[in-house]
This record gives sequence, C-alpha cells and structure tokens, in this order.
Amino acid sequence: MIDDILVKKLLSQIVEKDHEENLKKNFRERYPDESTPDGIDNLIRALELPPEDVQYIANDIRETVEKTISPIIKSLIDGVETDEEIAEKTGIKLNIVRKILYKLYDLKIANYKRSKDPETQWFTYSWKFEESELINRIKSDSETELSELNAKLENEEHNMFFVCPYGHVRFNFDTAADPYYEFLCPACGEELEFQDNAEIIEKLKNNIEIAEDNYNSFIEKIDNS
Ligand SMILES: [Zn+2]
Repeated sequence: MIDDILVKKLLSQIVEKDHEENLKKNFRERYPDESTPDGIDNLIRALELPPEDVQYIANDIRETVEKTISPIIKSLIDGVETDEEIAEKTGIKLNIVRKILYKLYDLKIANYKRSKDPETQWFTYSWKFEESELINRIKSDSETELSELNAKLENEEHNMFFVCPYGHVRFNFDTAADPYYEFLCPACGEELEFQDNAEIIEKLKNNIEIAEDNYNSFIEKIDNS
C-alpha cells in the first residue's frame, strides 16, 4: 500500500513544503515589493526557473519519498518504534529520521507515546503509523481533486472563451461582452480572440480519468488488505 501512487503523492507534500519555503525566500529576495505566490508550481512559474532546476526539484522529491520517507514508514509498519531503532534498521541518519517523523506527525499519519525511563529519567518516544488517518486523508484529497476537476470541465463545456493574443487575460463570453471590456484586453487594449477550448476539455477529461483510476485502484488495495 505504501508504494501506491496516491500515497506517494501525499508523502511528496512533505518534501514539497521544504522546496516551497526555499523558493519563497528566493522570490522575496528578488521581488521584495511583490506579494509572494503560494504553491510550488506558481513559484516555479513566477521565478521562471530553468528546466534543470525544475528537474532537480522533481528528482529530489521523488528520491526523498522513495529512499527516506517510505522506508521509515515501512519500519513503523513492521513494528519498529523508536527513532534510534528506525535509524539503525534503515541506515538513515538519526536527525533525518526525527525530522521526518515529526513531519509525518504534522500530517497526522504518525503518532507517538512518550514514556520516562525510571532509571535514567530519559524520555522514550514510541512511534506508530496511523494507517486509517492516511486512508482518510487520501480519500478526502481525491474527492476534492475530482470535484474541482469536474467543476472545471463543466465550466469549459458550458462557456465560450475569449483571450488576449498576448496572453494577458482569458474571459468567458459574459465577461468579455461586458460594456466595461467590450472584447478588449484591459492590459494592452488588443482585441480579444475567440479560443477553441476543445484541447483544454480533452486534457481535463484525461486528467479526470487518471484521477479516477488512481482512486479506484487505491480503494481496491485497501479493501483487499
Ligand atoms: Zn493583452
């Protein structure tokens, strides 16, 4: 189950957040007077990152999930409880194991119990993987994603769109025809052009199909486990 595509997608969020923070820092340094965009994709676009940097981020996210986060969760599933034992079993550095465990805790998919050793007075943390939280999280994320995609599809199928030839705006018919715009781009004054959105609709339908397939195969896996 831990190798399921939707599980990996959820775990990717942990690594994405680190990259997002770095990119936000870059953005603030470069454009101190502008408001900082949210979301890794928006930041990549706003910073106009070169393809090799985008590739580097994507690889780092994939590798960290596969080589660090998944093995830590697998250890928890196998009943390994403390950070030190996990580090020993996986060969991952202790400080990284701790960092990942707390990030899993933030996502509510790992939890810990603290107990005090009566002799040494040291605290021990016993960690546990919260499988049902992970399942609920993936279910609700997938449902949200699918309903957003379906709403977008409906909007594309039931509207006509007009775009600025220089890419400044994209309006539906009602907005473009509004006397305030009169089919002119508010940024450059150029006449808006009708846009055939058949390709956008095709792409959305394709994305919906992929999202549904991923979701169904996830549900099948948990039903059979
Ligand atoms: Zn324009």
